Amino acid sequence: MTQSPAPPLTDVAIVLVAAGRGLRAGRELPKQYVPLAGKPLLAHTIAALAALGAPVQPVIAQGDELLFANVCEGLSAAARALLLPAVPGGATRQTSVRAGLEALARVGAPAIVLIHDGARCQPGHALLLRAVEAARQFGGAVPGLAVTDTIKQVDDQGRSCATPDRARLRAVQTPQSFHFNLIHAAHNDAAKQELADFPDDATLAEWAGHEVHVFEGEALNMKVTRPEDFALVETRLLADLPDIRTGQGYDVHAFGPGDHVWLGGVKIGHDQSLIGHSDADVLLHALTDALLGALADGDIGSHFPPSDPQWKGAASDRFLRHAVDLVSARGGMIAHLDGTLICEAPKIGPHREAMRARIAEICGLPVGRVGVKATTSEGLGFTGRREGIAAMALATIRLPVQD
Ligand code: MG
Repeated sequence: MTQSPAPPLTDVAIVLVAAGRGLRAGRELPKQYVPLAGKPLLAHTIAALAALGAPVQPVIAQGDELLFANVCEGLSAAARALLLPAVPGGATRQTSVRAGLEALARVGAPAIVLIHDGARCQPGHALLLRAVEAARQFGGAVPGLAVTDTIKQVDDQGRSCATPDRARLRAVQTPQSFHFNLIHAAHNDAAKQELADFPDDATLAEWAGHEVHVFEGEALNMKVTRPEDFALVETRLLADLPDIRTGQGYDVHAFGPGDHVWLGGVKIGHDQSLIGHSDADVLLHALTDALLGALADGDIGSHFPPSDPQWKGAASDRFLRHAVDLVSARGGMIAHLDGTLICEAPKIGPHREAMRARIAEICGLPVGRVGVKATTSEGLGFTGRREGIAAMALATIRLPVQD
């Protein structure tokens, strides 16, 4: 997860299957959208796939467009740049995969396609490279793990009726990898014959008469399926980010003539405005500096010099989003953001939840990881004299171990 994206593999693309409803996971949300370690599960999957540097074609359920947009918010700019526009899936996994293959064929078929389940959120970079190489060599290939438990086949009454030789069994994962034309044609043939329920693409390729090679899978590449899988995967995701850091930010802007202020990304009617080069959103500026401080990467002025005319009147969500992208680019996550506004007026309380929601949206975070507080300064000092508004912020981030 710590690798920076490789140069684009121009002849490889990935179909990301994320149209399932995840009924076994026992959650209200489809499992690929459940937040884990601060991001939807699917955002972790996409971040891991992005290490390959190949275009990713998402296939999502109709009606999940907003959930998917939220996933994209949690991605680094580099990962977002690899995403093709999502296409709607079908009633079965097989029809969803075909929708993804058709979408790739429309924009220009790659030589090699990897087909990956959205609910496997930790495919390693080495596994992805093995998948590409195996497809090149064999035409069709799947990752598989040797089975450690003895497997029993049972009858309708649950009685053991066969014990296959464990040495010949493999538990098969994704990404399954193929010559694009081979698997595309096999899917089209199956659709023509109105077969729509193959459990995976390897089985479909075998049905179409192709040999499928099994290469070494990864134990960590598990599919989140049962309720208890979420905690296990989240623990692993957090264990990959042991370097916990905090940063602080502080900002002040003075009042001047006007009829509104921007605070926490929310426009609030007021009898004065805050004066600044950008929209003067003190809270977003303090949060941006807190994140930059946690990264030990300068301050808002060094990233967005006030002398640069392109930031004149700029909406401050761009500054905050930039800092968020820097955290993502380091392979990290934001654990928590906490801001305090210091002013006599306007009243912050009525707008607190809107600010939390907006900051969470900008940062691609669950709202439970964003705190907004306010205080007056009891009439003392420049804030007490209503000359301006001050904001303080703390950011807590988690990073991979840097070597
Ligand atoms: Mg400022």
